[in-house]
Amino acid sequence: MTVAVAVCSAVFGGAAAAFLPRVADRLAVPRGTPPRSACAHCAKPFPQWVRAGASCVCASRPLWTVSAGALIAGLLGATIGPAPLLVVLLPVAILGVLLALIDLRCRRLPDPLVAALAAATVLPLGAGALIAGEAGRIGRAGVAAVLCGAAYLIIALLPGNGLGLGDVKLATVLGFVLGFAGWPAVAVGLAAAHLINGPVALALLIARRATRHTALPFGPALLAGALIGVTLPAALA
Ligand SMILES: [Zn+2]
Repeated sequence: MTVAVAVCSAVFGGAAAAFLPRVADRLAVPRGTPPRSACAHCAKPFPQWVRAGASCVCASRPLWTVSAGALIAGLLGATIGPAPLLVVLLPVAILGVLLALIDLRCRRLPDPLVAALAAATVLPLGAGALIAGEAGRIGRAGVAAVLCGAAYLIIALLPGNGLGLGDVKLATVLGFVLGFAGWPAVAVGLAAAHLINGPVALALLIARRATRHTALPFGPALLAGALIGVTLPAALA
């Protein structure tokens, strides 16, 4: 059963992620700039918001994006199994891949997308917990969200740390999801984000792709950390 759920989840994740490159291409623009309406490389207009496969006919196939979507969704399916939580988290994971793609390209986590992530998690998880008579989980998730948001806000206010307010908002939403899963998930998720970000920054420094003063996107590490936080304690349980 678990294998079937994992395979179905992976197929969904890969198929859904195949529609992300065009959306990411349109939204990965500097702050205050309208979404891109044409390809940045060949200037071919973008008539639609979504397109299956590459963002433009001039771009290569999005193998990394599709693989990431399939892997993340498959991991969620394998660890959570056939539960309502999986139905909530699969589309959330695809939204997370989109946020990571945009942050990697323009170091931004657009507010509407983070708000959509909040709506897609807080509302169904909260309603589900109320129906299941587990109001305590909502309280724990709320406390975790406030703690994560406050911790990252303090870090963001420190000079020269490279964290933006988008990271703070994303950390707050992910704190809710991790808190909903449990305190072990919160601890693992926060630790994993930094364990991922540190070596990546070091590798970029060694490869001279970045300097000590380069501001690196932290959103992908936060999202990957949250994925590990949700899946690892579930897998060990
Ligand atoms: Zn093009």
